Amino acid sequence: MNIERSDRLKKLPPYLFVEIDRAKKKARSQGRDIIDLGVGDPDIPTPKFIIDELHKASLDESTHRYALDAGLLELRKAIAEWYKTRFNVTLDPETEILPLIGSKEGIAHIPLAFVNPGDRVLIPDPCYPPYRSGTIFAGGEPIYMPLLEDNAFLPDLKKIKPDAAKRAKIIFANYPNNPTGAIASKEFFKDLIAFAKKFNIIVCHDAAYSEINFDGYKAPSFLEIEGSKEIGVEFHSFSKTYNMTGWRIGFVCGNKDVISGLAQVKSNIDSGVFTAIQIAGIAALKSGIKNAIQFGSMYQERRDTVINGLARLGWKIQKPKATFYVWAHTLKGYDSTSLAKHILEKADVVITPGVGFGTYGEGYIRIALTVGKDRLAEAIERIKKVI
Ligand SMILES: *Cc1c(COP(=O)(O)O)cnc(C)c1O
Repeated sequence: MNIERSDRLKKLPPYLFVEIDRAKKKARSQGRDIIDLGVGDPDIPTPKFIIDELHKASLDESTHRYALDAGLLELRKAIAEWYKTRFNVTLDPETEILPLIGSKEGIAHIPLAFVNPGDRVLIPDPCYPPYRSGTIFAGGEPIYMPLLEDNAFLPDLKKIKPDAAKRAKIIFANYPNNPTGAIASKEFFKDLIAFAKKFNIIVCHDAAYSEINFDGYKAPSFLEIEGSKEIGVEFHSFSKTYNMTGWRIGFVCGNKDVISGLAQVKSNIDSGVFTAIQIAGIAALKSGIKNAIQFGSMYQERRDTVINGLARLGWKIQKPKATFYVWAHTLKGYDSTSLAKHILEKADVVITPGVGFGTYGEGYIRIALTVGKDRLAEAIERIKKVI
């Protein structure tokens, strides 16, 4: 039988991490001691009080059945309370909040609710890949907005062609940003809202890193800005804030019509988040922001280890104010892929080539701060010997 994949799969951009993945596998199979600064996955386990809550909830038989599509009301209430405390944003737990099986799930599915074949979706470049794949799966056409260093890695909304804007259904934004580590001011969000209103575009703001902040900075929510709820939603995740990447729980909140559109898609695809995990999520939210502060200062120390270490090698890099990524220029004589390959082959350190996040990621590499300070210092020592 001839098994042929769908056009939508064939339309996905080539997976540019192939070479690095292959080199990493080979190095591991040779038993080399690899320091992996590639993956954006926290190395510290989930806090014990959250695990204890999952354990307790999993022993309660009522959690074993299908979850409600809309999630537990108590979870939605805890999310509303968290938003009120953290951002002073008021949300209606009945209509303006929807739990997700990780925010990636909601991000990848939302175009199915609003994008028709041929519609445009405005996507930052470089970016978190599901904005692209979700758009392509819905038959939409990505229009890329370059994130340039000259513009502090914000999209220049004035440069978006009116023709593209008129045909666009969704605009994705993500601050604090993966992969660049950039942050957005409230002014930027105001401009984004004005732009979206003018062209009748849904704003999908991804705030996965809102709680990983440094130097006293505190990322704002898109929903703090007046008018935001009329045109947009914000995606949130437990993954980075509470080290829960494997648990698969996140949420989206904001405009109720956008939320109910996504809920309709999801009710045809999944059956919600395991109830015991939702209960553990409530415990996480109710613990306040002390965890975030503790993890934040840990990542800040790691950031300084990397930035100061690389500065001693003459590699000047701006200190990010948020996220656990360092976004650095490639070095003379290398593009992002050849530099990542060189550092892996000669120093046994994995970093991510920027081009894997989009065309405008070329010229940069991403270093994830997801190993301890000592290992980071060792990685710098090893890199020093080969560049
Ligand atoms: C990690 C990450 C997510 C979160 O994903 P989950 O599915 O909630 O684990 C979302 N957006 C960005 C930009 C990320 O880096």
